Amino acid sequence: MATVTSKTLEGALGAKLRLNFGSTVEEATDAQMMKACALVLRDMMAIREVETKQMVRREEKRQVHYMSLEFLMGRSLMKNAYNLGLLPQLRQALENLGFRAADIFELEPDAALGNGGLGRLAACYLDSMTTLEIPATGYSICYELGLFRQKIIEGQQVELPDNWKDLGDAWLMPKPQETEEVHFGGNIREFWADGYHHVVHENYQTVLAIPCDMEIAGYETRHTNTLRLWDAKSPSPVDMSLFSQGEYLKATEAHAMAEVIAKVLYPEDKHIEGKSLRLKQQYFFVSATVQSVARRHLETYGTLKNFHEKNVFQVNDTHPALVIPELMRLLIDDAGLSWDEAWYITTHSVAYTNHTVLSEALERWPQDLIQRNLPRIWQVLVEISNRWQKKVEDFYHDSTKTEDMAIIWGGQVRMANLCIAGGMAVNGVSGLHSGILKKDLFRNAYGMEPWKFQNVTNGIDHRRWLSEINPGLDRLIRDLAGGDEYLLHPTALSRLDDYADDAEVLQRLSEIKRKNKEAFADYARRTQDVVLNPDAIFDVQVKRLHEYKRQLLNALHIITLYQQLQDDPGRSMQPQTFLFGAKAAPGYAVAKRIIHLINSLADQINHDPICKDKLQVVFLENYRVSLAEQLIPASEVSQQISTAGKEASGTGNMKFMMNGALTVGTLDGANVEMHDLLGDENMFLFGLHADEVAELKARGYLPQRLYARDPILRRALDQLKTGFRDGVSYEDLFARLVTGSNCAADEYLLLADFAAYCAAEKRMVETYANPAEWNRMSLHNIARSGMFAADRAVAEYADHIWHVGHR
Ligand SMILES: *Cc1c(COP(=O)(O)O)cnc(C)c1O
Repeated sequence: MATVTSKTLEGALGAKLRLNFGSTVEEATDAQMMKACALVLRDMMAIREVETKQMVRREEKRQVHYMSLEFLMGRSLMKNAYNLGLLPQLRQALENLGFRAADIFELEPDAALGNGGLGRLAACYLDSMTTLEIPATGYSICYELGLFRQKIIEGQQVELPDNWKDLGDAWLMPKPQETEEVHFGGNIREFWADGYHHVVHENYQTVLAIPCDMEIAGYETRHTNTLRLWDAKSPSPVDMSLFSQGEYLKATEAHAMAEVIAKVLYPEDKHIEGKSLRLKQQYFFVSATVQSVARRHLETYGTLKNFHEKNVFQVNDTHPALVIPELMRLLIDDAGLSWDEAWYITTHSVAYTNHTVLSEALERWPQDLIQRNLPRIWQVLVEISNRWQKKVEDFYHDSTKTEDMAIIWGGQVRMANLCIAGGMAVNGVSGLHSGILKKDLFRNAYGMEPWKFQNVTNGIDHRRWLSEINPGLDRLIRDLAGGDEYLLHPTALSRLDDYADDAEVLQRLSEIKRKNKEAFADYARRTQDVVLNPDAIFDVQVKRLHEYKRQLLNALHIITLYQQLQDDPGRSMQPQTFLFGAKAAPGYAVAKRIIHLINSLADQINHDPICKDKLQVVFLENYRVSLAEQLIPASEVSQQISTAGKEASGTGNMKFMMNGALTVGTLDGANVEMHDLLGDENMFLFGLHADEVAELKARGYLPQRLYARDPILRRALDQLKTGFRDGVSYEDLFARLVTGSNCAADEYLLLADFAAYCAAEKRMVETYANPAEWNRMSLHNIARSGMFAADRAVAEYADHIWHVGHR
């Protein structure tokens, strides 16, 4: 392809505006221009995608199918331009046409087809799979409404719909010619004929699955992959027989029922409710995916007998677990294979990633829901379950282990056990987490089939989360660490370690951070209507609101700082700005109360003159990928303070480390591996370790004793009862921590870790007073973050689980 200059782009943008909007460049709105940019880049990627598909087919490569109910993509315009090597040209073209490039980029809505870390991981892996030239496709649902937009009104979260497609659909290419049919309900008829057992599914309702493809460009490669989002449509707009009888509303019912499947993303993160619509979403996207993959495989190879040699399904948590019975159904009912042949193929083409050990997040479906909605899948599940149970009995001869490992038990279908039985690999997402799976959650399965269990520590797309969002730091790295080499070889970042005693480099590093803080303060003033003090430490906790993540522990510490300032208002102190960002699941009442508390606390502190230029608390509204991209380069302290053993990996921790923030954290998830690389001297570690948490709980944990014994802690907790100037009391949160009501008090051990946390924050503030020391630590954090690039993680999946080649 001829090199693309800003002039070429100007021409292409002008043509798009004319053809798609009947508009001249002069008349075009920013929104139309944003769409025109997306369409121009989409065309370029579409050409490359066709070439990639032809190559994969020609060379008969094994393909990866990354299945996830969530892809938290964020914005794509700058990312795609960057990966296509066209970002400077696009900027120039926009300016030449009289537009402000930054305005156009900021207009793009986030594609928030995910909740948090799990969905963002899938998005980062798409980038790496493409850059590593792995033939891969992502599969999910084309939700009409992404994750809700959060507004804070009178200190409380209000949820608003996220109509992302209004502008965001410019990236989507509908492929109606590749529509699949998915069947729900009905009944199963079995009979023998011509010496064969036949199974017929009848009286079902059909929902059409229409692919809407989003192309994914890799970095410095023409290799292009696809994110295939299935849209749900009814096969006919109305039921004609009902319609002609005058039953107008009834006639459109099936239509509405079908389309509700792709209406909305479930906003619960790490919490599962057994809702029938959610089950339908899962089966809908799984069935459409399996059928479409099998169809393409048959077109290429003429048989499904080698399916497992050419395909692997990676299931991102258990949400797509029905891929196992669906593939069995297709191989047996449609392709006529025997059970044993089908089972061999299935158990050699599915791999499962576990993302949590929290029991409320482990999927269990009521069996009657599956029986009613998916009668054939239910039959297949019963057979899988029976055979697995026999295998377990023959191995252990122990009824407690049979129960623990059962797939169907007590009227429920347990999806994790299904994935273990039907998968070829099971992996956790950090060393600590994978260890807990083997020793604890899945210990019996591990005892029987230890070879299935692996670890792949999570990673992040460092091209997005460093180079693209932190151009100042990118320039410093290029100057010191071999130009742009780190973009494809992230371990090249380690060369920065050589400059730990170079005063000039450390000075440059601190100037970059200062500029980023000022830029974020500017952004916050524009978009959040708050005035930040750039002289203060930017101390940040952004992530979903969850009790185990312990935002409340952070708040208690801030209350203590405030009380100390009240005791001695003249006291000189290092100014600190505490920034929070978090969405709570709409039904998670305690999480919403914690958001309210943080806002009450912020209101109190920000209105108290004794706190001026000393303490500030800000709750940033609507935390999302594009806000993270502004905030993380400006952050100095990264709060990663979950109860040890609860955070499977975390990826927010990696984004901060890569941008030079120092971590205040527990030995949880990937923090453990960060600590291995950094040592005690380059992070602020505190709190109980995972095994100590387990021990303390086993011994009998009594938070009341800590409340009685520690006056500082007691005073902070009592403040929850009193509340703040807005007159709201947080007695309920106090009770949850101290007295307990219908549950054990302080399930996540905030009180047990409080004193150690305060001490770690104190060490952090003291270190900040020594800029040379601080900047050196920051440099070491950036230098050692290469290990947390998604390229490393994806290469591990490719080598040890998928067995596919890569760049
Ligand atoms: C990275 C990311 C997360 C995950 O953060 P954790 O701290 O690992 O929980 C959640 N939401 C968004 C928008 C992110 O970018």
